[in-house]
Amino acid sequence: MNKESNSGRSNINPANGGFNFDNSYARLPDSLYVRLNPVPVPSPRMVLFNHSLAQDLGLDAEQLKKNLGTAVFSGNLIPEGAEPLAMSYAGHQFGHFTVLGDGRAILLGEQITPEGKRFDIQLKGSGQTPFSRRGDGRAALGPMLREYIISEAMHALGIPTTRGLAAVTTGGEVQRQTVLPGAILTRVASSHIRVGTFEYAAAHGDTSEIRTLADYTIWRHYPELKSSDNPYLLLLDTVIENQALLVAGWQNIGFIHGVMNTDNMALSGETIDYGPCAFMDVYDPAAVFSSIDHQGRYAYSNQPRICQWNLARFAETLLPLIHEKQEKAITLATQSLESFPRIFQDFWLAGMREKLGLFNTEENDLRLATDLLDLMHKNGADFTNTFRKLSSGTLPEDQLFQGQNFLEWHDSWQNRLSRQPQSVDESRLLMNRRNPAVIPRNHLVEDALENAEAHGDYSVTSRLIRVLSRPYEHLTEYGEYRLPDPSGRPYQTFCGT
Ligand code: AMP
Ligand code: MG
Repeated sequence: MNKESNSGRSNINPANGGFNFDNSYARLPDSLYVRLNPVPVPSPRMVLFNHSLAQDLGLDAEQLKKNLGTAVFSGNLIPEGAEPLAMSYAGHQFGHFTVLGDGRAILLGEQITPEGKRFDIQLKGSGQTPFSRRGDGRAALGPMLREYIISEAMHALGIPTTRGLAAVTTGGEVQRQTVLPGAILTRVASSHIRVGTFEYAAAHGDTSEIRTLADYTIWRHYPELKSSDNPYLLLLDTVIENQALLVAGWQNIGFIHGVMNTDNMALSGETIDYGPCAFMDVYDPAAVFSSIDHQGRYAYSNQPRICQWNLARFAETLLPLIHEKQEKAITLATQSLESFPRIFQDFWLAGMREKLGLFNTEENDLRLATDLLDLMHKNGADFTNTFRKLSSGTLPEDQLFQGQNFLEWHDSWQNRLSRQPQSVDESRLLMNRRNPAVIPRNHLVEDALENAEAHGDYSVTSRLIRVLSRPYEHLTEYGEYRLPDPSGRPYQTFCGT
């Protein structure tokens, strides 16, 4: 594929909501997907629409917020130029290889923006596909709103992520533990190519299929690698780097993905598949929220290690491309994988330095950061608020800030700050750009979902999304949004929703 096809078509047709689809994925070998349309739904109603994202995508937000959008985002109307398909993929789920695929999602096509960028427009919860296994192909309202809220919050926090363009209720019901209203989320992603997509191609195809997929991924995400001597090894290195950056970002804001299976890891480096994810209130390295993660495989402090494990599964699929001699390929891939902990730590520590208002680097910065985290852990301190409060200038009355150990830490931090040329005000500004005032607190997300599900009241959700869209500012309206769950109840999240 050449550059011309990458930039796609540029004429936006105003009569169809501004959709300007190209369908490069549909031109890949047909083992990688199944063409089919979403299954129509009885009486769709749009409950959330992301006006500014629609505009960024070059869509006609005014048209789409009306009936046209409801019809398209429910799967009842296929926009002009779309070539809907369900993607094939496999994945290691909790360490075990399984063949999966889009069991309840349909890729409508790739929207080419006015700037020539390419984004997948995918409906999630759009009905059964050949990959549905025993599933109904549908999604319940709560989890789709949850993905919308949290992915939008992540975007505002500056973490690479898929995004929510719209949520519609279908008018149908889904049977889970109870009967729930059905919904469809329209998700926007740089692509839906997963580590699991490569695992699928490696398990089913010959080397040429993996090569086609790798070339496609390079073309789509990392075109600068194409002309290098070993683009496939560089693809591995680049994905390693982007995943290290992503997971360092998660660690720096206290986000726990909850189900880091290889099918939930995107080669674009975006956070994808918001299932049982959550933000922690109290800092706890062992924090795990997912009801099925009994071993804590995907606990907060395990995320970097699991990321590296997943990257090893990705590397295995690339071996035949990296070098014709398998032994040599393994040596090269292993070298790359072994660089992960260092790359991750560099990103993570760079993030921690910023959280602590540090502009330059010193040998002992790692110690400074981990000492604080240890104290936070011992005192049951709130992860988000502790960092935000550190920049306030005066120490609040929380237990953590009163202890002798903390005061000693505080002295060494103040000394460290004085050894850099920047002023205290500059440090505070940096800290306030890196330490959010608001995150999607679990109890507030649940409250929003409850109001939507039980009472059809979306105002709580909309207000929450609005607050979360400016997480680093200091606004009076934040008030209760900054507080951890007053009930202090343990929080649990669920898969298969
Ligand atoms: P997830 O937990 O959303 O990452 O999904 C894991 C796999 O299960 C994917 O292949 C999904 O397509 C599939 N899946 C999840 N829920 C359903 C459902 N209700 N119907 C059909 N397939 C599903
Ligand atoms: Mg998934």
